[in-house]
Amino acid sequence: MKKLMAANWKMFKTWDEAQATALELVDLAAASLPADREVLVCPPFTSLGAVAEVFAGVPRFFTGGQDFYCREEGAFTGEIAPGMLLDLGASFGLTGHSERRHVIGESDQLVGEKTAFGLAAGLSVILCVGELIEERRAGRVEEVLERQLRIGLAGVPRDIEPKRLCVAYEPVWAIGTGEVAGPGEILEAHAFVRKTLVAIFGDNANEMRVLYGGSVKPSNCAEIIALDNVDGVLVGGASLQGESFSQIVLA
Ligand code: PEP
Repeated sequence: MKKLMAANWKMFKTWDEAQATALELVDLAAASLPADREVLVCPPFTSLGAVAEVFAGVPRFFTGGQDFYCREEGAFTGEIAPGMLLDLGASFGLTGHSERRHVIGESDQLVGEKTAFGLAAGLSVILCVGELIEERRAGRVEEVLERQLRIGLAGVPRDIEPKRLCVAYEPVWAIGTGEVAGPGEILEAHAFVRKTLVAIFGDNANEMRVLYGGSVKPSNCAEIIALDNVDGVLVGGASLQGESFSQIVLA
């Protein structure tokens, strides 16, 4: 299974800035990318085309949307369809990022609809799950992860091609805070995610990638991706500079 080193650029970067960072990343990381790694960059919709153009023809470099809506087209002002992402050259889409859940207010049900719809439309999907700090303190991590996974994956066919479905475990308290989860916390959560995926999808789930996200940076990435059941990372802040994301990608 190839490790997926994914960047979420959130609401940063104009077309020109995105293009320059993508060029720098290819320059620094493409030639020496280990054979068992893939790179994904999720820019804002408005600069996705710039990154897709730079990555076109670069082996194992992909682009994705940070979100998408669960309809093919229609009167959904402000929304973007999976087909529109594919048309720009994207092959992935995120669902359920904590900022979509907790800032924008998306429900587990909507996240689930998007996940199933995006996969059916031909995208590979990274479903993001993770607990709030109050939920961790209350000993509710597994309950929250199980709910987000069960509802988030409810409409996904059992025989889905496993490399097209990833889960990112992103404890909300570790996102953008500089406070990375400890190895024990990551191991425990990833083992639980894997167990739940196996309960839903059977053996197929052993080929699905489970990424860790939350304050990953060049100095901690190697240790994190060496952990059991960690099949890649999803990186926000430290992915915004080509230099630092290339160090993560090659870590
Ligand atoms: C994220 O946005 O998914 C994320 C993990 O952010 P950061 O790396 O900045 O914590």
